[in-house]
Amino acid sequence: MKQQNAALVCFSGGQDSTTCLFWAKKHFSRVEAVCFTYGQKHSLEIEVARKIAADADVPFQLLDVSLISQLDPGCSLTNASIAMDREKPKHGYPNTFVPGRNMVFLTFAAILARGKGIHHLVTGVSEADYSGYPDCRDAFVRSLNVTLDLAMDEQFVIHTPLMDLDKSDVWELSDELGVFDLVRTQTLTCYNGVIAEGCGHCPACKLRKDGLEKYLRRKEKNQK
Ligand code: ZN
Repeated sequence: MKQQNAALVCFSGGQDSTTCLFWAKKHFSRVEAVCFTYGQKHSLEIEVARKIAADADVPFQLLDVSLISQLDPGCSLTNASIAMDREKPKHGYPNTFVPGRNMVFLTFAAILARGKGIHHLVTGVSEADYSGYPDCRDAFVRSLNVTLDLAMDEQFVIHTPLMDLDKSDVWELSDELGVFDLVRTQTLTCYNGVIAEGCGHCPACKLRKDGLEKYLRRKEKNQK
């Protein structure tokens, strides 16, 4: 059922946040998107996000939080001289991890939302797949929700529709929302900045491709 409420979606133009954008459009009467620039190597993702939001008739705002890339020079997403980890290291996090990124994104999103009179925030984090980044976990999101409420004396609700979904489930959700083809052909997930199917060999492309194949196999089996 559609809530007569507004939601602000943390939106990057990737598979996950695009699915969340359309999930929000289904569940809320008004949806806005906020996109963050944090010194990432590929500014193309911002243009991709802007276009998807415009096509979806969703107001789009870009916030510059590039300060976070100055604080940790060891991240391969923001430092061009560092090659990206292809595999998850045995200890610690891959160098695609931007420490505090989701905390910063959600905190700024909440402040922005408050100014707009919006109390529902939507983010595409998941703890089922990916590299196990600590600020993608449910416990973190719940904890931050309480903190944001206390910090601003508000009642925010942070929605994480993908929290328990693996990549194949995210494809399935986009199909249910009627945006499977849009997500497949217009979003940018690839760490090397290639739209749609991507470069094919970076960790993000591999996850996306494996998830897509798994979903298509499941769909075919269910149709028999
Ligand atoms: Zn790639």
